Amino acid sequence: MILIVGGAGYIGSHINKMLSENGYETVVFDNLSYGHDDFVKWGSLERGDLGDIESIREVFRKYQVDAVMHFAAFAYVGESVTDPQKYYQNNVCNTLNLLQVMLEFDVKKLVFSSTCATYGNPVEIPITENHPQNPINPYGRGKLMVETVLDDYSRAYNLNYVSLRYFNAAGADPDAEVGEDHNPETHLIPLILDAAIGKRENIKIFGTDYETEDGTCIRDYIHVTDLADAHLKALKYLEKGGKSDYFNLGNGSGFSVQEVIDRARQVTGKEIIAVESERRPGDPPVLVGSSDKIKSVLNWKPKYSDISVIIETAWNWHKKNNDLK
Ligand code: UDP
Repeated sequence: MILIVGGAGYIGSHINKMLSENGYETVVFDNLSYGHDDFVKWGSLERGDLGDIESIREVFRKYQVDAVMHFAAFAYVGESVTDPQKYYQNNVCNTLNLLQVMLEFDVKKLVFSSTCATYGNPVEIPITENHPQNPINPYGRGKLMVETVLDDYSRAYNLNYVSLRYFNAAGADPDAEVGEDHNPETHLIPLILDAAIGKRENIKIFGTDYETEDGTCIRDYIHVTDLADAHLKALKYLEKGGKSDYFNLGNGSGFSVQEVIDRARQVTGKEIIAVESERRPGDPPVLVGSSDKIKSVLNWKPKYSDISVIIETAWNWHKKNNDLK
């Protein structure tokens, strides 16, 4: 039995589907603060909060947990700056509760959702796993703290973990069974699609004077199903006795905000009005990761690296989620 903490969210729900399709039994633990109970279409759902350690123990008593995947975290970078206590409490302290219960029940395999935000401003592109980690906001610092804790626990308690440092997760399940539905939504692709269906008047381009070819920021978008596949491979690696390790998860190539908007116009056939706006504080001009390590160690290969396919799967889900044909 695989315990998916935060499995009612965007990324966790795609992993739940992938694990179920690959013959794993799953149980989702989620407080549903940002997750959706109708995203838990596979396995069972236990509603509870990592802040309540007894509720975590209950799940471990009820199910024979073999490994844990941990997605439960707040993930609004801007909010982490204005309300760091909310972020450190949940993303760091509550994660310690989960680790404590894992140790109590002798569960020693964990796949952890980390982030390229642990690197901070890149000094080198593409970013490899050896790039210095100097996060520039509480969200990134909290994730790095957990990575550090995992490293210590791994040595002291033989906890074997894989940390996956995501670049920009995007797209949706190709069958459109689950997808991206954040409230509030801050991510580029769903906001563009909101503009495409008329839910928003336009998409604001945050900064057009960056030192990039077209002046807009470049990001490395990775399809959520490819991300899910990496989690499956990380789990199998741990099951085979693989030692603790950490990997970037991106496509190794970047697209500018302007390029993403242009592709979205092609994919959707909609006009999509773009408005040039101020830079958003804290945005580095270019974030592109090298995923060579996960390709060679875990034999991971992205299937949906084409940005048009990423947008198309997001579009199909977006229409369905907004009751459009
Ligand atoms: N972005 C934008 N307009 C928006 C939302 C995002 O221009 O309404 C830009 C943002 O500045 C960044 C890129 O799109 O360069 C991706 O942003 P997102 O919030 O999706 O992910 P992040 O890179 O912050 O994790």
